[in-house]
Amino acid sequence: MAQEQQQRRRPPERRSNGNAQRPQGQRANARRNGAPARHARPEQRRPRSKAPLAIAMILFFVLVTAGCIFFITKCQSDQSSANKTEAVEQTASSQESETASNTGKTADDAPSTDDTDKKKEKAASWELTLVNKTHPIPDDWEVELVEVADEKYVDARIADQFMQMIEDCRAAGYDDVFVNQAYRSHETQQEIWDQFLDEYLAEGYSEEEAEALTGESVAIPGTSEHELGLAADICSINFDEEYNGPIQTWLRENGHKYGFIQRYPEGKEDVTGTKNENWHFRYVGVEAATEMYESGQVLEEYLGEVDSAAKTATTSAKTDE
Ligand SMILES: [Zn+2]
Repeated sequence: MAQEQQQRRRPPERRSNGNAQRPQGQRANARRNGAPARHARPEQRRPRSKAPLAIAMILFFVLVTAGCIFFITKCQSDQSSANKTEAVEQTASSQESETASNTGKTADDAPSTDDTDKKKEKAASWELTLVNKTHPIPDDWEVELVEVADEKYVDARIADQFMQMIEDCRAAGYDDVFVNQAYRSHETQQEIWDQFLDEYLAEGYSEEEAEALTGESVAIPGTSEHELGLAADICSINFDEEYNGPIQTWLRENGHKYGFIQRYPEGKEDVTGTKNENWHFRYVGVEAATEMYESGQVLEEYLGEVDSAAKTATTSAKTDE
């Protein structure tokens, strides 16, 4: 009675849906693949004697036993081999990670080869030539000059950018911008040095004192960036605001676009070895100038050439180096 009710309640589509057909299809496929049908009739047996059967059974038992022994032995061997391989891999892996961690330490503790190469490359480029109290001008330094203002010359390689900077400064509203000093020959630098020295000697200072005082104001010949032809002192033609006015502010903020930096900023005297000079701008190339402008580094810091011997700065000097 209950079965009849269940059959009546069963929806008619359940009996003829796709699922119900599938097992038949599987059986059909199995037959096509050569597998025996589940209910295939076994072949008719022939009568056999019992002795061959016993031998066959013994052989079968021996083979199965031998097979089992072989299988177990092989498994143990494989496992041992796998363990060894794993151990080797672990050792290699731990060595690799140790090496990696050592490499990491090296990278943290010392500059990488890339950094060192980059610094060497920078220091070797002409526009980043470092000249200060401890880095005299290279003996083989040669300069081809171009006049950029009335009897003012700079290295021909920077002339276009220099003139563009002055022109844009003027266009920004500073039509009183003036190039006060640019390239100086070694002889001129020597003359300036001698002139200061003589004045101090005339004032009664000893030679040693006079030299020390001159050194506060004038770069020792051979150590002035003006001799490179890559630096200029830029101010207003109105000398009332010569040294620290809106022109220097504009140049400080915009000079890097033309490859120039304010070379001796305030607060960096211990690094540059030179007093603060708002008017002295030095060409280093657009890339380096931009990086230094953004980082606040001076050239010594940028090149990694901070030198304690350069710490001879003073703020009491009279004029430009
Ligand atoms: Zn200068």
